[in-house]
Amino acid sequence: MNKNIAVIRGDGIGPEIVGQAIRVLDKIAQQYGHSFTYTEVDMGGCAIDKWGEPLPKAQLDKCLASDSVLLGAVGGPKWEGMEGSKRPEKGLLSLRAGMGLYANNRPAKLWPQLADASPLKPSIVAKGIDFIVVRELIGGVYFGEHKTEVVNGEKVATDVMPYSEHEIERIGRIGFETAMKRRKKLCCVDKANVLDTSRLWRAVMHRLQPEYPEVEYSEMFVDNAAMQICKDPSQFDVIVTENMFGDILSDEASMITGSIGMIPSSSLGEGTCGLYEPIHGSAPDIAGQNKANPIGTILAAAMMLKYSFDMDAEAAAIEAAVNRVLDKGLRTGDCMAEGCTLVTCTGMGDAVLAEL
Ligand code: NAD
Repeated sequence: MNKNIAVIRGDGIGPEIVGQAIRVLDKIAQQYGHSFTYTEVDMGGCAIDKWGEPLPKAQLDKCLASDSVLLGAVGGPKWEGMEGSKRPEKGLLSLRAGMGLYANNRPAKLWPQLADASPLKPSIVAKGIDFIVVRELIGGVYFGEHKTEVVNGEKVATDVMPYSEHEIERIGRIGFETAMKRRKKLCCVDKANVLDTSRLWRAVMHRLQPEYPEVEYSEMFVDNAAMQICKDPSQFDVIVTENMFGDILSDEASMITGSIGMIPSSSLGEGTCGLYEPIHGSAPDIAGQNKANPIGTILAAAMMLKYSFDMDAEAAAIEAAVNRVLDKGLRTGDCMAEGCTLVTCTGMGDAVLAEL
């Protein structure tokens, strides 16, 4: 297959970690007979420096013309004092909106070799943690009306949480389709005992359910889900939920795996073109020192192969290579432990390539 990948190296450690992911993609292309071409896109602080804005239209257009987008991270202290529309993170929001990315997939996977890094008890961790939170990304209370007014002499603030059936249906489908590519279990997380939006979510999910007879479907209230993620995360395969619940639960889910440098994420919309990135930021404290952990970005590239290009075997090969590198005790500084061998960002890239 020939694929055109838009590459946003971004700021801070972004160029270092993306460089390693591209080496891995090139090796996969060579082994499996694919051809990947890369279109460089400026976004974030580097785009502000070069073009005066975080995501110029010509740069967004390059992403829209690509088969998928790989992102490192954006931002840093240099641009922190700038006004809202000129901040690097605005580039990311414009990219998500511009590409119509309404589904954020964030896996919570604990690599057994890093089990000590989890804040959960060993007896819970031993059962395994490997699930994905599919979060609706461009609707709900973050995008509804926000207002503060004075009523009877005091301020009253209101945030509206709208959801329409088509918004729920499209994210619901992503939930079912993601489950079909995994262990075929889907849990819809909501607050249907209180919220009308949640009751509409359930009604739409019930309509979709017969189309996916192989998927074991369940429902859970969000307060219970927050507890269950700590108590027995092994019960989950795919969670689908609205924007704010997903924001909170996906952070909880990544926390229990204990290693910020290891976790990838994807954002998808209509069609197969998606945005793939690690969940962490640009780590300005270690930028330019060849210390960053590139595994989150390498696994983001693997997600791109699986979810955007239908290259399941290639994605599995990358995950297996990462697994073997961890088995050999190689670690970057963020997850270094006693008895392991410290490697640089490039050293970790070399090790993954060697295992491929
Ligand atoms: P951060 O994720 O960049 O860093 C938090 C801590 O984790 C730091 O100590 C850092 O060194 C470490 N860390 C992060 N990724 C690592 C990796 N791959 N390997 C080793 N260590 C790693 O969060 P922050 O410090 O709050 O934010 C720094 C900048 O990144 C800010 O400008 C923020 O706005 C931006 N940011 C960008 C994104 C994005 O581009 N998607 C996401 C979050 C934050």
